Amino acid sequence: MTPSTEFFRNLPPKQCTDCGDVIDEQHESYLHQCEKCLRHEVE
Ligand SMILES: [Zn+2]
Repeated sequence: MTPSTEFFRNLPPKQCTDCGDVIDEQHESYLHQCEKCLRHEVE
């Protein structure tokens, strides 16, 4: 849906399962949620 997806067309972009935001693989390659949602879940 977002233009960002075309940028990652070579490999599927890892997106937050909660809000759909693209996750930076360098930081959260093993996570399925962005920092915002992760923090929200912790609480
Ligand atoms: Zn999120």
